[in-house]
Amino acid sequence: MNPIPTKMFINGQWREVAGGKPITLINPATEQPLAEVAGADVLAVGEAVASAHEAFLNGWRDLAPGKRAEILYNVARVIRENLEGLARLECGNIGKPISDARDEIGLGARVFEYYAGAISKFGGQTIPVARGGLDYTLRTPMGVVAAIVPWNFPFPIGCWKAAPALAAGNCVVLKPASLSPLTALRLGELACQAGLPAGVLQVLPGSGQAMGDALVTHPLVRKISFTGSTTVGSRIMELAARDIKRVSLELGGKSPNIVFADADWQRAAETSPMSVFANTGQDCCARSRMFVERAVYDRFVELFVAATKKLVVGDPTRPETQVGPLVSAGQRAAVEEYLADARALGRTVATGGGRPAGPGYYLEPAVLVDVETSDRCWREEIFGPVVCIRPFDDEKAMLQEVNDSPYGLSGSLWTNDLRRAVRVARQVESGVLSVNSHSSVHVEAPFGGFKQSGLGRDLGMSAMEGYTELKNIYVAE
Ligand code: NAD
Repeated sequence: MNPIPTKMFINGQWREVAGGKPITLINPATEQPLAEVAGADVLAVGEAVASAHEAFLNGWRDLAPGKRAEILYNVARVIRENLEGLARLECGNIGKPISDARDEIGLGARVFEYYAGAISKFGGQTIPVARGGLDYTLRTPMGVVAAIVPWNFPFPIGCWKAAPALAAGNCVVLKPASLSPLTALRLGELACQAGLPAGVLQVLPGSGQAMGDALVTHPLVRKISFTGSTTVGSRIMELAARDIKRVSLELGGKSPNIVFADADWQRAAETSPMSVFANTGQDCCARSRMFVERAVYDRFVELFVAATKKLVVGDPTRPETQVGPLVSAGQRAAVEEYLADARALGRTVATGGGRPAGPGYYLEPAVLVDVETSDRCWREEIFGPVVCIRPFDDEKAMLQEVNDSPYGLSGSLWTNDLRRAVRVARQVESGVLSVNSHSSVHVEAPFGGFKQSGLGRDLGMSAMEGYTELKNIYVAE
């Protein structure tokens, strides 16, 4: 097994950080130290960006598209060959259940394959302009892209930023979250082994506070592709505005899960717990606000609670585990505060909310009922294993409540009435919505948010648009 990567990866090499503060990683399932990783600093940012810029000018930008595609296909292959090692790294780093970790590494490989294929399909137009001659558009790469990712899905989100940016001909500085840098670091190394030239992809571990501003304001960084909290996203947008840098932002969420009485509500009740408790609720798409039509509300809650109690919570290295620990002691404490608030208001915790015995930042998945729409737990993104369920009587009033949120990322709608599905799906203010399903992410389809959930889209061909400038060329006849 490879040693745990602990340095930064710049210009195709592992590099020590001269002055940055190292970060101690703790395995959240055991509370034992896992590794000490370099914390990149402002100097490291300068080096990484310069190296990416040079690689852009001296080769990657002008490489034949077919060759670029071949390299990205190779990256996908090498990820697959290393799937087990990467999955174990992720599992130890953030307590992600091993079966989920394997799926997510596989997803990262699929993303590289998709964008390797996209290179030959993503092009411009010819436009019949009034003046005659030849008018055509080109999609040109931007230069250096800073890809900043959160700790909850480090590998797939790192891939779904890096792969389209590289496919479009950009070079990338990837900054994983300080809590979860390990698989991103390994990706840098593996991509080089797969034939990606040195300097095309750098990985800088370390805290956003220490190097975020330097990266975001660096004059050679042309685009910032950020996934994380709305607070940090808003700050990045402000900084980027100074020199009109391109930004795309994938931010927080408080997604609804709407169940009509005409739906297969038993199936909805049995499957919905994992739509919020997967990844221990640390999921921007978590369906954490449930709206259930009153005619089936009591029976729905009963089934939902029973299904929640059956979830396998525990050691993330075991293949049967569905819910692992939270990522850190601080994250668990923040979630527990929401539960304490709800209890103080007299809300009912129908199940969960306790700490199982033993080490690890575990918390039993909690189901809250009798909540009010003014409660913090109903309005704010908790980012932990807590769901709130409320009944509704009227479609129109329910939709008003659904949309009464600063967020608009994802959601589900359960009904067997096609006309209702079409009508309600159109009116929910979210970038992504699934009907009779909880599936939010498709490599081939755009993913992103309305309102304070973000700006721009990841995945699908939309992401390629986001990593290119549109240029119009006119040639006189
Ligand atoms: P965060 O905003 O704290 O950090 C995200 C990344 O930004 C990290 O790499 C962090 O180091 C970096 N960062 C922090 N301060 C910075 C600064 N001043 N400048 C530049 N970079 C900085 O978010 P998090 O706690 O890692 O992740 C949780 C949040 O991410 C939740 O709100 C969640 O909803 C959101 N999220 C959104 C999506 C989506 O696709 N919409 C996906 C996953 C997570």
